[in-house]
Formats: sequence, structure tokens, C-alpha cells
Amino acid sequence: MNQHVSSSVPPVSGGPVDPKAIEDLVLASHILADQNVLDGFGHCSIRHPNAKDRFFLSASLSPAVIAVDDIMEYDLDSNPVDQRGRKMFLERFIHGEIYKARPDVNAVVHSHSPTVIPFSVTTHELKPICHMSAFLGGGVPNFEIHDAAQVTDLLIRDNYLGRALAHSLGHRDVCLMRGHGNVCVGPDIMTAVYRAIYTEVNARLQMQAMALGGPIRYLAQGEYELIQNRSDKNFDRPWRMWKERVTKA
Ligand SMILES: [Zn+2]
Repeated sequence: MNQHVSSSVPPVSGGPVDPKAIEDLVLASHILADQNVLDGFGHCSIRHPNAKDRFFLSASLSPAVIAVDDIMEYDLDSNPVDQRGRKMFLERFIHGEIYKARPDVNAVVHSHSPTVIPFSVTTHELKPICHMSAFLGGGVPNFEIHDAAQVTDLLIRDNYLGRALAHSLGHRDVCLMRGHGNVCVGPDIMTAVYRAIYTEVNARLQMQAMALGGPIRYLAQGEYELIQNRSDKNFDRPWRMWKERVTKA
């Protein structure tokens, strides 16, 4: 028997889903590409709104070009429900293992957003420098893949590495990945997209402040906690603006 042919039966679907949820996932990819958070690589996903043990992620394509038909459903071991010959992201395990570990998370963005990467390879910690990035308060973990698997190509190629990354993320909203990128999570796609964009913005602003020299006054604990606990977060306001940019003819 050919050992490369899986004898396992594909997982069953979590059932029908509101087309708007899939459209928003496609939109999220286009927005993140437009905002230079995702480039030719990186991906975002949502948990199935009606089945906690399924999620949606596009086939392996650049985020700027994906369409509704490219969205695939997976179980939390990142097995496809209905592959139909479509190529899968090597790093789909990031999503499945975070959804397993974090029942509160319904959307995940994995990016290589460029300004964040230097903070993953130096001793400079990424810290909240303005009110828009208060969600970084309390420390941003940095996943060291070498601790989990020694010498690798730095990609999250299986469930074991996905689980190790989810463990580093812990209860936080953002986790850096040393020499690779980061993951941002949220209770919905708008929040995860907001966090991915403002993680990149914060990294840029922090580097500019560091270049000016002298001590930097980051948000204090009381400040970022007050902002994080606000009920009127208005994530839909920038979402509408970002959407406008990518849906204009
Ligand atoms: Zn990656």
C-alpha cells in the first residue's frame, strides 16, 4: 500500500454557513494585503460560526487574490473536509491548534508583517506605544521554535509545532514567532484584523521612538487596562474604511 495515500476518511462538514461570514473572511485577506500586513504569504481564518470544531481558511494562494470559492473547511487537526484538489497552506496547523487551545478565539491572522520581525530576534520587547495598540499591554510572548524542535525551516508544518505555538500564545492576543512573523487572534474577524494592522503600526512607531533616543514612555498598566476594558471599541469604523479601499472599482 502506498504510504503517501491517506486511508482516513475526510471529516464531515460543520454544516452550512452564512455566506457573509465567508465574504468577510475574503475581505479580511484583501484588507490585510492592502495594509501591507500580509504580502504574498500569510493567511487568516475564522472558526465555523455553528461548529466549534471546524474552521475556514483559503487554499494556498496569495491573500490579495483569494475569492469565496477558494475558502476551504477544516477540522481542528487541519484535515480538509472537501479538498477537491486544492493546494493547502503548509502552516494551516497554526489555526487548528489555536482554535483547540482557545475557545474564546474565533479568528486568527498569521502574518510576516515586516516591522514586527526585528522585535522577534532582538532583546527589544514590543510594547504598547499608543492607545490604538493597548491590546499589546502586559507583554507579548515570542515563540522560539528551536525550543520545540531544534533546527527547522521555522515553518509550523504539523500539529505538534502548532500546539507549541498555541502554548506560547497562552491567553494573549498576539504572539511573535522568532525570525518568522506573528499571530494575532480575536473573538471575531474584525478584531483580529484590527490587531494585526495595529501590531504592525505599533512596531513602526516604537522603532521611530527608539530612533529618537532616550527613555520611552509606554502606556502604563492602568492605561492599557482601561482601554482594553472599554465596551465601545468601534472596530467596525476602521473596518468600513479598510473595506472601502479594497472594494472600490
Ligand atoms: Zn509563516
